[in-house]
Amino acid sequence: MLAALRQERPGLRVSQDPMDLLACARDASTEGYLERRHGLLPPGPAAVVWPADEEDVRAVVRAAGRARVPLSPLGAASGVVHGTSPGPSWVVLDLKLLDQVALDPARGWVTAGAGVVGERLERALNAQGFSVGHFPSSIYCSTVGGWVAARGAGQLSSRYGKIEDLCVSLRFVDGKGRFLVLNENEQPGLMQSIIGSEGSLGVITAATLRVHPLPSHRALAGFAAPDVATGLSFMRQVMQAGLRPAVFRMYDPTDTLLAGGIPRPSAPPQVQEGCLGRAGLEDDHAAEASVRNASVDLSVGQGWESRLRQAALRVDVQPHLQEWAGWLLARGPWLRRVACSVPSRCLVVLGLEGTRDDVGESLASSLELARNTGAVLLGRGPGERWLTRRYAVTWKMPPLIRAGGWADTLEASAAWSDLPALYADARAATLRHALTLAHFSHAYPEGASIYFTLAGGGGSLEESRRVHRAAVDAALGVFLRHGAALSHHHGVGRMKAGHLSASLGAGAAGALRGLKSALDPHGILNPGVLGLGGGAS
Ligand SMILES: Cc1cc2nc3c(=O)[nH]c(=O)nc-3n(C[C@H](O)[C@H](O)[C@H](O)COP(=O)(O)OP(=O)(O)OC[C@H]3O[C@@H](n4cnc5c(N)ncnc54)[C@H](O)[C@@H]3O)c2cc1C
Repeated sequence: MLAALRQERPGLRVSQDPMDLLACARDASTEGYLERRHGLLPPGPAAVVWPADEEDVRAVVRAAGRARVPLSPLGAASGVVHGTSPGPSWVVLDLKLLDQVALDPARGWVTAGAGVVGERLERALNAQGFSVGHFPSSIYCSTVGGWVAARGAGQLSSRYGKIEDLCVSLRFVDGKGRFLVLNENEQPGLMQSIIGSEGSLGVITAATLRVHPLPSHRALAGFAAPDVATGLSFMRQVMQAGLRPAVFRMYDPTDTLLAGGIPRPSAPPQVQEGCLGRAGLEDDHAAEASVRNASVDLSVGQGWESRLRQAALRVDVQPHLQEWAGWLLARGPWLRRVACSVPSRCLVVLGLEGTRDDVGESLASSLELARNTGAVLLGRGPGERWLTRRYAVTWKMPPLIRAGGWADTLEASAAWSDLPALYADARAATLRHALTLAHFSHAYPEGASIYFTLAGGGGSLEESRRVHRAAVDAALGVFLRHGAALSHHHGVGRMKAGHLSASLGAGAAGALRGLKSALDPHGILNPGVLGLGGGAS
């Protein structure tokens, strides 16, 4: 296949260098981290190719079809559901050279190549006064094509929508090398089926996404809810009152505790110039430094969790926390019993952005709804802290794994009425296997997503895998029983593939298989994801 391809596209970049193959052999799934932690290097694919344009993509797909060689489309490999796991005879189609960005301010959209990394896209748009409003925590290490392929969500999705809401049109090469342009007016159903197809139906080469002018003002606030049910009621009332906060998240008692607890009330929220989403590493580092350098108040009367957190910042233990957590998790189940039995309230973070007047009005209405539902205002401190640390999660996994622990995240979405029971049942089921914390984010008028973090220890690779799988299956089993979506934004990959048919039902699962046969008749596109077409490596 490679010889024929080189002849047809002489300029195509191809590598069989072992380091290149290793670099594209796994995504950021827990399964991959565990393998590497135990010295098990994945075999890697036969080759990696970097198409420079859509004709290159078509040529690669056609050549793979003729030779029946499986292809694994790759963005930045930040996926967390084992969607990138090429077998030894496979070819990885790395799309990072498709990196053009074209803003059309009059139409209010941007067309971005599949390989554009999120931070680059936002910086390019910010320079011209615009934003897509899609800010996954992985914005520095994920691509536009990956967002669409995984049906992702950014931190501000309550205001701007998920990626499927932002997509105006897609450019796409199917499994026979046919080129398609799908848009929301003419092929809305087909376009929505491609969004979330995780490389199993075709290769996304570019996406046209809605943009909006950068908001001029913002406000941040934190609240303490006495329990999960009260916090959810507050969130539901805000969303159903027609308010559109950009950020709205509630941490369950364990997550609240591990994040430092309920802080002492700080200065009241206020409408300020600026917006929440703007990407910019330097700004984040500067803000983080200012939190670290802030004078530490250990006065009597301050919450003990808050004092502990400030002291930790002072002596700069933050970088080592994950290693300590990993060490503790590896030493037995007692930690999860302790962490989960300490009573605590729930921290709620609210972030608004828009015009000065809009933000002012939404803030006043939200504060009134908080008073009516029993959520206590904590001032703007918790919101400001969230803002400075909103991408910090990206770098936590390796130290935890290195120290012998593991962590994984599972997210489901459900209607407001189902969320309390879904949360309680999934937590009870997973606690048998792992430390479990959760937060509710991505709120909408009809419901919200729950994001569970599971963490465990485990000794050998086999033991870690067994416990990890048991915890994941326990959670997914509860999601299925409650009729909740298996994924809100991470996708299905290979990790959840075994549960997808049950989740979709026989009819929809059959329709998905039909679409696969029509668009990928040779079955060469990322076989195994979404349970389609066999062969995970
Ligand atoms: C620390 C961390 C935080 C995260 N936070 C978020 C978050 O806030 N929100 C969120 O939605 N996700 C989040 N994720 C998950 C991940 O970043 C997203 O799934 C992201 O959309 C993947 O983009 P990628 O470019 O890295 O895709 P990859 O990991 O390279 O690929 C993901 C899947 O899509 C397929 N694919 C990739 N590009 C294409 C293409 N052009 N055409 C067809 N198929 C393709 C791949 O084959 C694979 O199956 C997070 C991950 C990490 C590690």
